[in-house]
Amino acid sequence: MEETLNILVVDDDEVDRMAVRHALTKAGVQMELSEVVNGHDAISALANTNYDCVFLDYRLPDQDGLTLIHKLRSSEIKVPLVVLTGQGDEQIAVELMKAGATDYLSKSRVSSETLAQVLRHAVRVHRAEMQVVLADQQLRESHELLIRKNQELERQRQQIQLQNLKLLEASRLKSQFLATMSHELRTPMNAIIGFSQILLRPKFGQLSNQQTDMVERILNNGKHLLMLLNEVLDFSRLDAGRLELKPELFDLSKVINSTVAEMHSLFESKQLSLLVHTDLENPLVFNDSVRVRQILVNLLSNAIKFTEAGEVWVEITEIPGNRVAIAVRDTGIGIAPKDFKHIFEAFRQVDQSITRKYPGTGLGLAITDALVRMMGGKIILESQLGVGSMFRIELPRQITLPNTVGDTPSLYLDSDEIMCSTQNPHQFHTQSSKAAISYPHLKR
Ligand code: ADP
Repeated sequence: MEETLNILVVDDDEVDRMAVRHALTKAGVQMELSEVVNGHDAISALANTNYDCVFLDYRLPDQDGLTLIHKLRSSEIKVPLVVLTGQGDEQIAVELMKAGATDYLSKSRVSSETLAQVLRHAVRVHRAEMQVVLADQQLRESHELLIRKNQELERQRQQIQLQNLKLLEASRLKSQFLATMSHELRTPMNAIIGFSQILLRPKFGQLSNQQTDMVERILNNGKHLLMLLNEVLDFSRLDAGRLELKPELFDLSKVINSTVAEMHSLFESKQLSLLVHTDLENPLVFNDSVRVRQILVNLLSNAIKFTEAGEVWVEITEIPGNRVAIAVRDTGIGIAPKDFKHIFEAFRQVDQSITRKYPGTGLGLAITDALVRMMGGKIILESQLGVGSMFRIELPRQITLPNTVGDTPSLYLDSDEIMCSTQNPHQFHTQSSKAAISYPHLKR
């Protein structure tokens, strides 16, 4: 069903108004038609009622059509305006269209078809224009919204940047505090260790058994405390990027064997078997021997600490890409996969409770991880709860220092990830006997 259009005819000539009404009725236009006779009445009618189209006589008694169009277009009234021109008015058509008329029609051409056609066209064009206006308005609104959101985002970005700066400053102060504290504590600690060692020497007087026992305890606790202080100092230096590697050419097997030998007493005290397997055609590496030793000490002391019975293996092999691998395996308590990532974070331990069974700062693996990264290597961890763990360090044979240019090959690997897997640790029990150094006297 065709919609009913609300139409206004503005014409002082009754015959012309009737002609419009008649033509539209004849064309079958469903409409409510109102009539006014001058421009003033037309403005009040349009101000009070919504019309779908206005047929406007160009020559009105109080003003001409052009003036009325200007008035209407500069007001809030939005309606299609079809101007009906008389004989000789046609040349004004361009002006009318420029002023905002939707269409014009010479009264001499008014017929039911042309009028209905002009009406439908004017209504269609007007509605399309209104839709464009609406879309334009919505676009402007969303543009303004976007600008506001952008401003809000920019404000938040600046806030985050400010907080980041504060965090960086807090972190720097924390590292500085740790470094200063551990450095300051090391001096009296060295004095405690030194003087207890002197006290234990017979030439400074014989101590009773009880006194010897007490001084030995002071010495051992002092050494332990110094080790912890050194860990905190190393970590704070690494954290602040102030720890530098001092690479040199050295024999990896020798460093591994001497480090393992230094730790014999620890294996002995827990009655653990130790197996060292070195399979290197070329044992020479270019790295910081002190830091490589430190990595091995960290892994071995963990293996000893977290293993109640069984064995610890150390395996050194050559791997593709001119790299070497150092693996430390144990038959200890193992690590659950959910903890794989966390244990490499500073101060993180699987058991964080105060009553935990195993002592430590929780810094060993964080330091190991940072050192391995600096060396351009990676860590692979395989572990199973209740069965054991394997930490495998893969390092380039020749490390590259960040700012060095020249002949050292850049063998930096992407060490960003710590690779974890939950394979059965039993798969690592196979061992080539030809190059294995074993310590059968430590076996139970
Ligand atoms: P710490 O040994 O001082 O606690 P680490 O950074 O060396 O700190 O180790 C972090 C945690 O990782 C340990 O507290 C322990 O929970 C876990 N872990 C490390 N090595 C082993 C291992 N060989 N077996 C079982 N758990 C281990």
